[in-house]
Amino acid sequence: MAKSRYEGYCINTPTKFVKERFDDINVYTQNAKSLLTKASGFIAAYDFTLNPYRGCQYGCSYCYAAAFSPNSRMRQDWGKWVIIKENAAEILDKELKKWYEKNPHRYPKIYMSSVTDPYQPIESKHQLTRRLLEVMLDYYPTPTLVIQTRSPIITRDIDYLQRFQRLRINMSIPTGSEIVRKDFEPRSPSIKARLNAIAKFKNSIEDTKGFIPKTSITITPLLPTLPDDEASFLEKLKIVDRIVIQDFHPSQNRSLVASTRKETEAIKRKYPWWYGKGELSYIQFKQKLINQLPGIEIKEGQDGFGYD
Ligand code: SF4
Repeated sequence: MAKSRYEGYCINTPTKFVKERFDDINVYTQNAKSLLTKASGFIAAYDFTLNPYRGCQYGCSYCYAAAFSPNSRMRQDWGKWVIIKENAAEILDKELKKWYEKNPHRYPKIYMSSVTDPYQPIESKHQLTRRLLEVMLDYYPTPTLVIQTRSPIITRDIDYLQRFQRLRINMSIPTGSEIVRKDFEPRSPSIKARLNAIAKFKNSIEDTKGFIPKTSITITPLLPTLPDDEASFLEKLKIVDRIVIQDFHPSQNRSLVASTRKETEAIKRKYPWWYGKGELSYIQFKQKLINQLPGIEIKEGQDGFGYD
């Protein structure tokens, strides 16, 4: 089968056309053949991963998902294009129907998402993730769902989210310093906006209206936090029931761990006081989490990404 060629990323007649411009990104659409992907490796504790979009507007410098781009030019331009899986809700419904027919008493465990952010800015317009939640809620028992995001847009869906019996929200906050965030992930929401989103979430959920989701902050990969910001960052982390930390991993092509791409290496060199100490910075930060956040579960790497 001929490979898809994306307008703006090929010189020949493209097969995928730009549907719209959203801020400075090219938005394409496609019809997905399947949506639930069998989970393996780092997230093997799940039955499936679920990615409503391909590509991610946040374009974090260290993102392993860039390796899953359709071609090398799009990989270079990670963060500047998104593909919307237009028929996602319809396909998910079919796949869940099949699952529940086969496993009437076993709910599937779903990780959303492994190679995109389901609440990236374009979700505010297209509401694809919201439609997927709606589909999942049509099934009983509802799937166990873990949502990985760094976006405050998730609070829009509190009404649906509190109807899941087993839900964990993983909010990614890899640093407590805005200046560091702007270096490593300049297109992402501020740290304050993410913390406010968790607070809003927790304040809005009422046990009389639904189930209480579990919440984690994933500090993955652990980025430097400036000494002046550290105490207040640690204090703010107390808002969740679990903290997950993980160090950078050496670049592993198409591996689901935060890998170190060339541009990240260049940014890391701006923080010699942190990276010059090798593993020590990680070990010391982990120890501070353990000492200063008693009662909060501190997990590392793969161990922290499950629902339980
Ligand atoms: S938000 Fe997640 S998926 Fe998106 S670029 Fe950043 S690390 Fe990658």
